This record gives sequence, C-alpha cells and structure tokens, in this order.
Amino acid sequence: MNTNNENISRSLNVVKPIYNITPFTLLDYPDKTACIFWFAGCNMRCLYCYNPDIVLGKGRISLHAGLHFLQKRQGLLDAVVLSGGECMAHKKISDFLQEIKNKGVLVKIDTNGSFPEKLNECIKNKLVDYVSLDFKATRNKFHTITKSHLFSEFETSLCSLIHAAIPFEVRTTIHADLLQIEDIQEMVNILQRYEYKGTYYLQYYRNNSNTLGNMRNSKNKYIDLLQIQTKIPIVFRNLY
Ligand code: SF4
Repeated sequence: MNTNNENISRSLNVVKPIYNITPFTLLDYPDKTACIFWFAGCNMRCLYCYNPDIVLGKGRISLHAGLHFLQKRQGLLDAVVLSGGECMAHKKISDFLQEIKNKGVLVKIDTNGSFPEKLNECIKNKLVDYVSLDFKATRNKFHTITKSHLFSEFETSLCSLIHAAIPFEVRTTIHADLLQIEDIQEMVNILQRYEYKGTYYLQYYRNNSNTLGNMRNSKNKYIDLLQIQTKIPIVFRNLY
C-alpha cells in the first residue's frame, strides 16, 4: 500500500458514519446478492420517513470497518447498497466508493438527489453502477413533504442521470394525504419532459413503524393508474 492509500485508509477509520449493516439481501440490487450500509444523517426530514433512528441518530461503524466487513465476504457478495439516511451527504463518500470499487464489487446508491455535483463526479469516476433516485414531490409540495428546499438539486441530479451511461431508476413514495393524482401526473410530466426512458416506480406509504412526521396509514386511497396519461411505464411495488 502506498502512502496515499495509507492516508485514505486512516481517514476512513476516523469518522463513523454507518449506522448499521444489513449483511445480505437479494431484494435491493437488481439480480445481485448484496449487503446494505445504512448511513446515519440526512438533509431532509420527510414526513413519512420510516428511518427516524437513522436520520436523527449517530453512526457507530467506521468506513474502515465497513471495508473490513466487505473483505471478509469477498466472493459472497456481488454488490453493496449505500442507503440511509443520505449517503451522499458524507464527506468521505468518494474515497469510500473508490475503496469498494477496488474490491471489484458493484455499487448501488439510494439517494434523495440533493448532492448533484458529488453524484455526477462519482458517476464520472465510475464509482457507481446503479442509482435509485427518490422523486419526493412536485416543486410546490417539495418543502411540505421533505422540509427542505432542494427540488432544484433533485432536478439537476435527475438530468445528470438521464444523460449518464449507468442504469438508474426513479421512485416515489405516495401518502394519499400528501400526494394526489394531479401531483403524480405532474411528476410523470416532468420525467417525460426530461426524456426519462426507464420505469417509474411507485410505492404506497405503509404505517408499520414510527415515522418522522407520525403519519397515519393511507391505505384504501389508491391512485387509479388509468387516470394518468403517461408514455413511460409505471409499476407499483407494494400494492398488497
Ligand atoms: S425518506 Fe427523507 S428523511 Fe428519510 S432518509 Fe430518505 S430523504 Fe432522508
């Protein structure tokens, strides 16, 4: 290991941004075996967020320990999913991704899209293989739902991904008290305007745990897809 690598390795040992590790999943990276690193902290406060402990809590695992975890599972895992919280908010994320890629493992990032420059740089440097981008709301409703003013940043991330040569997906969580069919139609229109060609994934909010905004369940208020005019495929992930 050269001095530069030693410095990077030491710096990855200092901070502890990972809240927890899911050691194995078949569900979170399309067609791959993966683990999930849950990053503590987020720059949004979505009312329906079901990870308040992760968003408001502190990490307990260093990036170095995360790499050690991967080392021990070399050959068993195809991929790593970085989720949270917002993994792109962490200062050392590029160095961490580089170290993961050095191990020959695929990387998927779950992101709210609020760090377009960092995301773009990671894509340009081939540090990311798949992105799952949250489309929280229309511009008008973005602050109400996320308690942030980051719609423009999201929009820039969306454009970058559309022009990048890596697979990605766009997904929206629907709570019927927050998003109505007119909003979904507007969001579909935005995706079409930017010429998004992939599938638009929708998922209903389920109130099975504590959320940041203590949201009630929104069941029985389903969106009638037939009312949406769309040229892009729309798939519901959790209808039942
Ligand atoms: S749902 Fe919102 S608050 Fe929760 S981790 Fe995602 S972006 Fe952050």
